[in-house]
Amino acid sequence: MSGICALCLRVAELCESHAIPKAFIRPILRANGGSAILMPVGPGKIRRGGDVLKGKLLCARCEEITNKEIDAPTIRFLSGLKQQVDRGDGLTANFNTKDMAIFAVSVLWRASLIPGYTPVQFDRRLRERIRLLVLYREESPLKLFSVRLGRLVDRTPDGFDGPSLAHFIFPPSGHVSGPAQQMVTMAMHGIIFELGFPRNRAASLQKPGYLKDGVTTISLLDYDIFQSEPIVAALVNGYGKDYRGHTTLKRKKDM
Ligand SMILES: [Zn+2]
Repeated sequence: MSGICALCLRVAELCESHAIPKAFIRPILRANGGSAILMPVGPGKIRRGGDVLKGKLLCARCEEITNKEIDAPTIRFLSGLKQQVDRGDGLTANFNTKDMAIFAVSVLWRASLIPGYTPVQFDRRLRERIRLLVLYREESPLKLFSVRLGRLVDRTPDGFDGPSLAHFIFPPSGHVSGPAQQMVTMAMHGIIFELGFPRNRAASLQKPGYLKDGVTTISLLDYDIFQSEPIVAALVNGYGKDYRGHTTLKRKKDM
């Protein structure tokens, strides 16, 4: 099918592009026979899905560039850092915060372009700015928005264990946290990302885990899953009704 590539805007044959990288989805599919990803898909809506959040978005060249130059290095870094933290070997490793921010926003941007996927939406002007950020990767996106990273944990007794949280996909979902700031939350591979538009300077000074411009290290601090309002809302609305035996998320006592 040919169409206009969402990144370079050329008319071309379009590829099936994934918003959440396949590398994060594949292990979950393998572990759960092809369909057991818990996907909140909107306010109060949750579904178990397989290979979701994809669409014909990019030409072959842009698909290859985003896979190899944006997704792959970040996935390698995050997987390594998470293993390191899980082993108790330190919370911080070297990576460019600008590259991490570009990865995070490119996931949101791709999701926002998938027809029918409504939980994350950008106005046209912001969407165009993000396209240029992803295309040229020159300007630091941290001037436009803030990014907070954390390793998902559940501190409640009998709460979710690490492997369950690592299999929890929370697709990008917008959430207005205040009168002005728009917050988008997503989780994959046991890691939560919070992006604030525009950049929330005050919060990024007060709360740990925010990426800072010009810094070459990234820390993965613990983030309690029940501290995330949108995740809690999704769990309460959709998940609470039928979690037992129906999802990949298992309470520790069930295992
Ligand atoms: Zn293209």
